[in-house]
Amino acid sequence: MNLSQKDQLYNWHPYTQHQTTGLLPAIVKGEGVYLWDENGKQYIDAISSWWVNPFGHSNPIIAKAIYNQLTTLEHVLFGGFTNKPAVELAEKLLSILPSNQKKLFYSDNGSTAVEIAIKSALQFFYNKGEKRTKILAFEEGFHGDTFGAMAASGITFFTEAFQGSLLEVVRIPLPTTENNSLTLLENVLQTNEFAAFIFEPLVQGAAGMVMYEPQELDKLISLCQKHKVFTIADEIMTGFGKTGKTFACDYLSEQPDMMCLSKALTGGTIPMAVTSFTQEIFDGFLSNDVNKALFHGHTFTGNPTGCAAALASIELLFSNEMQENISRIEQQHLQFAHRLKKYPNVQNCRTLGIILAFEIKRETTESYYGDFRNKLYAFFIENGIILRPVGNTIYVLPPYVTTNEQLEIIYKTIEKALEIM
Ligand SMILES: *Cc1c(COP(=O)(O)O)cnc(C)c1O
Repeated sequence: MNLSQKDQLYNWHPYTQHQTTGLLPAIVKGEGVYLWDENGKQYIDAISSWWVNPFGHSNPIIAKAIYNQLTTLEHVLFGGFTNKPAVELAEKLLSILPSNQKKLFYSDNGSTAVEIAIKSALQFFYNKGEKRTKILAFEEGFHGDTFGAMAASGITFFTEAFQGSLLEVVRIPLPTTENNSLTLLENVLQTNEFAAFIFEPLVQGAAGMVMYEPQELDKLISLCQKHKVFTIADEIMTGFGKTGKTFACDYLSEQPDMMCLSKALTGGTIPMAVTSFTQEIFDGFLSNDVNKALFHGHTFTGNPTGCAAALASIELLFSNEMQENISRIEQQHLQFAHRLKKYPNVQNCRTLGIILAFEIKRETTESYYGDFRNKLYAFFIENGIILRPVGNTIYVLPPYVTTNEQLEIIYKTIEKALEIM
């Protein structure tokens, strides 16, 4: 039996209906934008392995940092102790995050970073004896698959089975210049029941790279501030350069109270996440009463090896080479968006930073993991390009190290799909 066959015997994959899913390619090697499966087939990873890998697979600089840390101090508990990479990473991150962010809480994946943000918002008000138990979020948002994160997520078929067991969340539509989401928010906020408003700033990743304007988000944030509702920017997808700035929040005039980071934090090497806070939120847990502390933690919180990987990644991100790569890909995407204008079946083409997305015009609404999407997905895989269309949305989110020639291969394959679908 080969790896794919053994995998089918033993493994349960994410977001996968195993009854109708065949053998999955077994990837045995990665380098830069390329991945190879056990049969030697080569793939271009055009979505950075679910948005985690900006600097290319098996990046030697991050690998070296990890090796050095593993052979110095691989792990130590963060309860009662601290460690050098965790301190250095906190100092580094706080120097690049919005200036009101003052404290970090480490965890190990995006969903837990969101749980920590939501729990701390709820407990902040509990500590003060104020009853604010509800959360605000956008329709179609995605914040992860654990219970709190799932409650905040609006993509219904991800969460349908659990609706009876979730936190109370009120949803508003994404703001546009035409709709009334600001008024809706204003009305909802009158009740004073809300602890926090969570959102993906400027780009809703899992919804299919749905984009909206910073000016509109600014208005919602300042309204929340007026009503003392904490704002949580979930930058798990958008963080670390994907939007063309370090964080999507760097496009805003307002600053969120909390931020959630993960995905590209360690350059796609070690699972790790961060929730950052303002001083005000941190101070809401200070007391002579031990019970007012945030009783939350994960075994691998503050893991030195993960922190060392993140430090190396951030250094790479700020290198001239990587910053130039980001602007170069931005430009290439803009040109490709222009090229796509000649396809009558391309709708709503949009780009921000290294993200490009558009819809393929269809007679009927295409479901998230529906037949049309599966056909597109299979077409790209067959052609050696890893893209995961969402319904009829195709998006590209390539590693920053993707060359223009490699981008051209991705673009050409997309054009081929447009011609035959
Ligand atoms: C991926 C994602 C999450 C969840 O992160 P996991 O590491 O998969 O738990 C949360 N929010 C956003 C915006 C994401 O893209």
